[in-house]
Amino acid sequence: MKNGDVTLHGHECWMRLALAEAHAALALGEFPVGCVLVHEGKVIASGKRVHSSGRTNELDHAEMLALRGFLDAETVIATQEVTVYATMEPCLMCFSTLILNGIRKIVYAYEDVMGGGTNLPLSSLSPLYAAMEIEIVPAVLRQESLVLFQQFFRNPDNPYWKGSLLADYTLKQTLTPHPLTF
Ligand SMILES: [Zn+2]
Repeated sequence: MKNGDVTLHGHECWMRLALAEAHAALALGEFPVGCVLVHEGKVIASGKRVHSSGRTNELDHAEMLALRGFLDAETVIATQEVTVYATMEPCLMCFSTLILNGIRKIVYAYEDVMGGGTNLPLSSLSPLYAAMEIEIVPAVLRQESLVLFQQFFRNPDNPYWKGSLLADYTLKQTLTPHPLTF
């Protein structure tokens, strides 16, 4: 069990960096999603959601921007060795784009019950996707991420996904007292 604990602790360390990106997005009035890409103990790219306010689009998601940053850096790092840490479960676009680009391990904090894409039934899709083996680690620092989404949805100035299934679900979640483990 010790190794598992170490791994979980490691996941939390990286997720805190993704949460810092989410905090920064929220401070700008954006949907609080952050993402970091990690390789051999180093962050190699990061991203935060933009264009969820003002001129909105569904392209500039945190994961897409982090992946673009990694690819633009033109490193020799194999994408298969990169772990993605996202503060929300990747949507269908992000999940598909990440795995198509070779990502095989995704760790996320808060589940996206409305638009999450990590439950895509790969084995029943075309051969390219059916052959992929993807490792998903959910609920790492879930509560820390949930707090940010509750803040976002409680703010009447944020119209993004207001009144949606995701907003309703998020506002109904209860926060449990945080154990003092650090
Ligand atoms: Zn996405």
